[in-house]
Amino acid sequence: MVFDELELALAELDRAHLRRHRRVLESPAGPRVTVEGRRLLSFCSNDYLGLAAHPELIAALAEGARGWGAGSGASALLGGHLVPHEALEQRLAGFLGLPRALTFTTGYLANLAVTPALVGRGDEVFADRLNHASLIDAVVLSRARHRRYPHNDSAALERLLKSSTARRKLILTDSVFSMDGDMAALDRLLVLAEEHDAWLVVDDAHGFGVLGQEGRGALSHFGLQASPRLVLMGTLGKAAGVGGAFVAGDERVVEWLISRGRSYVFSTAPPPALAAALLMSIDLIEAGEGRRQHLQALITRLRGGLAPLAFRRGWRLADSAGPIQPLIVGDTGKALELSAHLERLGLWVPAIRPPTVPEGSSRLRISLSAAHGESDVDTLLAALEAAP
Ligand code: PMP
Repeated sequence: MVFDELELALAELDRAHLRRHRRVLESPAGPRVTVEGRRLLSFCSNDYLGLAAHPELIAALAEGARGWGAGSGASALLGGHLVPHEALEQRLAGFLGLPRALTFTTGYLANLAVTPALVGRGDEVFADRLNHASLIDAVVLSRARHRRYPHNDSAALERLLKSSTARRKLILTDSVFSMDGDMAALDRLLVLAEEHDAWLVVDDAHGFGVLGQEGRGALSHFGLQASPRLVLMGTLGKAAGVGGAFVAGDERVVEWLISRGRSYVFSTAPPPALAAALLMSIDLIEAGEGRRQHLQALITRLRGGLAPLAFRRGWRLADSAGPIQPLIVGDTGKALELSAHLERLGLWVPAIRPPTVPEGSSRLRISLSAAHGESDVDTLLAALEAAP
């Protein structure tokens, strides 16, 4: 029976502490949430600038729904592309300094569109070993050969590119790695893409809104100029505080995705109210230097406190300068125990386990937001200090 097999597989997950459970939040997401009647100080969210609860954003969403309805009613190509969607794409392109932008319902879908649209059977994708799951799935869907290089090892990438005889090549990477918080050397990757006539596809889910001038993201952080071979993807449910994603780059790439990006063509366009709210998000991001500076101060405070603590406990602090600050514990059971200890003290810090991270590198993923205060960071440090 197929169900016997499933039950066994679920029991196996339980044994290995890998069974996942969702929790129901009884309050809006934010630095303080209510779960099962308890108020918790949360370090789970990717709402890095604290915009998700911003009153102007909520007003823009409500106003957008009143003006444009609750749903788009169709895929973009079949009548679901409304004025707010078009305005958002133009605003994003202008903000990013790239020729065109195209919006998607989620980042997962945006990634699934790009790689299979640019490469196929007989081509090669050169991918960082720690890329996000959606990028990995995109390569599988493309049917191109998946050549993975060790994390952030551009010398290994160069060797792979040199040995490749594929007609079409594509370098695929996160800008900020989602479970480690460190950054890809995008400047070097772009040089390699140019030398080897390859595409460079960058997932800036965790850089957009946080990094670079006025929060323009990783390209701005590295001072990279627009290049026709560079395709940028970013998500709008993290720093932008709403939901959705964009792909931005060369005019021809965007035109090709409109016709041939399968997850674009065959999926209902996002509700127009989301696009209306996101127009407000971009304004808030652009004017958000104060939020970014506060976030940076929190990161510095947290790392300053974590470094000696991690050293004493045999934990490892990741090489991250951003709001994702993983505390690598190693053993999955120990990471879960530490997370449970924090929760007993009223803090919610998720433990991340395989297969999301490599075996033996289970961790707490501490995620900071500009909505946190300095005293929240101090509370977390004190709770970690008190861990048994
Ligand atoms: N890429 C990266 C690096 C991510 O961290 C995520 C979200 N966890 C995604 C893509 C997917 O984006 P979305 O949540 O909008 O589907």
